[in-house]
Amino acid sequence: MPSELLHHPPAGVIIPAGGTGSRFGHPQPKQFLDLAGLPILVHTCKAFLDLETIRSLVVAAPAAYMQDTIDLLHMHLPASQTNRLHVTVGGATRQDSVQAGLRSLPAEIDLVLVHDAARPLVDRATILRCLHGAAQFGAVIAAVPVKDTLKKVGNGGMIEKTVDRSHLWQAQTPQAAARRLMEHAFAEANRRGFIGTDEASLLEAVGIPVRVVEGSERNLKVTRPEDLLVAAALLKEEGTMKIGHGFDAHRLVAGRRLILGGVTIDYELGLDGHSDADVLAHALTDALLGALGAGDIGRHFPDTDPQYKNIDSLLLLMQVQQQMEERGYRLGNADLTIVCQRPKLAPYLAAMQDNLARCCKVPPAAINIKATTTEKMGYTGRGEGIAAHAVVLLRSDFGNK
Ligand code: MG
Repeated sequence: MPSELLHHPPAGVIIPAGGTGSRFGHPQPKQFLDLAGLPILVHTCKAFLDLETIRSLVVAAPAAYMQDTIDLLHMHLPASQTNRLHVTVGGATRQDSVQAGLRSLPAEIDLVLVHDAARPLVDRATILRCLHGAAQFGAVIAAVPVKDTLKKVGNGGMIEKTVDRSHLWQAQTPQAAARRLMEHAFAEANRRGFIGTDEASLLEAVGIPVRVVEGSERNLKVTRPEDLLVAAALLKEEGTMKIGHGFDAHRLVAGRRLILGGVTIDYELGLDGHSDADVLAHALTDALLGALGAGDIGRHFPDTDPQYKNIDSLLLLMQVQQQMEERGYRLGNADLTIVCQRPKLAPYLAAMQDNLARCCKVPPAAINIKATTTEKMGYTGRGEGIAAHAVVLLRSDFGNK
């Protein structure tokens, strides 16, 4: 089931856009700066309003820019989106602006997502993970594991130590919580005079457990002028498509299990190989790598590497899916053909389809699997082996479609 169909309480979004961009060295607030033909703030609001499940979105704008904010959002967004949009006056700090947003959200809203105005590339999948995470756990934030090695540096630029990063995550937004939890955290912060740099720190301060859900490397924050160049380059890729083709064949031997598309098939022979020899998963994985221009499965998972001995090939497929996501692509659809004389595969095709769709994070209908014989001609026809072909189409509108 597509995850947006899962049930969650009525959800609203607050976008604190109170900053006037002093760090950017630009006279205009940075949320008004152009990114691929649209103001940053329009990209940000659109990412949420494209989801019909978002009932209300409040932008907390600087008092001096209220009218400008209203005008530009109404100029660039359709009426079906602006009717869920409110602009309110923000405060001096982010915290004040979010609080103003909380006061402006309609009473029916039970789940609140707070998102930085300057993260215009937030994608649908990240928003949905936050929405469903908050519905399930009460409070979550989008975050990504720290990638770079971290150094603690003392006086004179001397490294004091290398920080263990295995438990360190970089906080992003959305930060999401049940409305009553968010309101409680803000009321307590006010009472104690606590100022946090994000909403999670306010929730944490009152002992509310906050989990991380997977964010995205693309969900960058436009803080400096060069970030705008990176964001523009990422957006430029949007709407592009890539095609990929994969082919694989393995020999049928005694003493091995026959696994196709992650399904174990009842047969006296199995496919020979270093991994589980899932020829269908291999063809699909190769097609994805081909579309990305990233070589082939042998380059990424060499058959000389003992860690891949007898490995479940679906794990390799999921790793490639992850790479695809990091590059801003998602699978549009795949068409697969298994060339196999025996056994009969028809009873297993639906289960294969489900497995491959789950690994690629698409609905099963996006994966078509056909099985054919070669009428006893050639190596597949003689039952010496099984082959598989895959054609895929990747799309880069990962963000909002
Ligand atoms: Mg193979």
